[in-house]
Amino acid sequence: MTSIASLRALASKYQRAMPARLRAYLTARGIPDEVVDYYQLGYDGQRITIPIENRAGDVAFFKLAKDPEDSSDGPKMLASEGSHAELYGWERVLGAPDRIVICEGEFDRLVLEAHRIHAVTSTGGAGVFRREWAEYFAHIPKVYICFDRDEAGRTGALRVGQLIPHARIVELPDAVGEGGDVTDFFVRLGKTPDDFVELLAKARPAPPTPPKLPRRRTAIDPDRTRIERLKEQVPIEELVGRNLELRPSGQVLTGRCPFHDDRNPSFAVYPEGRRFYCFGCGKHGDVITFLRELEHLSFPEALDALERFTSIHGPETPSHNSTVEGEGDPGGLADS
Ligand SMILES: [Zn+2]
Repeated sequence: MTSIASLRALASKYQRAMPARLRAYLTARGIPDEVVDYYQLGYDGQRITIPIENRAGDVAFFKLAKDPEDSSDGPKMLASEGSHAELYGWERVLGAPDRIVICEGEFDRLVLEAHRIHAVTSTGGAGVFRREWAEYFAHIPKVYICFDRDEAGRTGALRVGQLIPHARIVELPDAVGEGGDVTDFFVRLGKTPDDFVELLAKARPAPPTPPKLPRRRTAIDPDRTRIERLKEQVPIEELVGRNLELRPSGQVLTGRCPFHDDRNPSFAVYPEGRRFYCFGCGKHGDVITFLRELEHLSFPEALDALERFTSIHGPETPSHNSTVEGEGDPGGLADS
């Protein structure tokens, strides 16, 4: 329905709709007008739109940043339908630069670009960096990873460092505070590009990958039909909703992520697609993944737990009210 051309047209339309107050807001957070215009930032009437281009240079989807005047507790960042983990800044990577910074978040990337420092980010947050992206960095002499100063940032940086062996990990100074990022460095602390280059000079190589035993997948016997049936029968919003508070935000439900220290609700549940996605830490998956991660279950254990969930919460089975389990009605409560 939404073709490549129509997404580009949409980007232009949003761009024209960008109110002056949002330009002022972006300027104040280190993204001046020329960067706003160059990267076609816009406004869809609710959120700031950031068109994300794929490797071919087509608009693939939009990241949607919260309007500063939006007082609801919706997530800081959302994405439009069709979103996936994409590298925001392919044109930089493909332009064979001498130096590139992999940072965490679209706005941080734009702040770096505003200071004429080539930068890219994964649209999936600190936790998502695709293995197949790594090879595109192999021929860039200086690759730096500069993620947020928090646990998710440190873990994510190590992971990227293992995928790109010559990359160096940059540590933002104490002064940015716990959870501080590139924007804090430039905007709140008023640092200059020279200060940042000094920081780059102190970057350290990522520790080598720890040896891993090859994983064997044969241990699990995936009963495909059972898996598919459980995914069908357990509405993800109900399963997640039992564990955290969810609020509707357009087509999605959002809440605070149970997998990282989430100060803003960045955990999105897509009932239609039966999946979840965290815009903070990048965790994503279906009902099985959710349960496994949350309760530290093995795959078969998660299936059993989902089975119990369906037996308590539906799906509706013909009721045999007069029959109590164990009373020995042979036909009554047998598994169907
Ligand atoms: Zn998270």
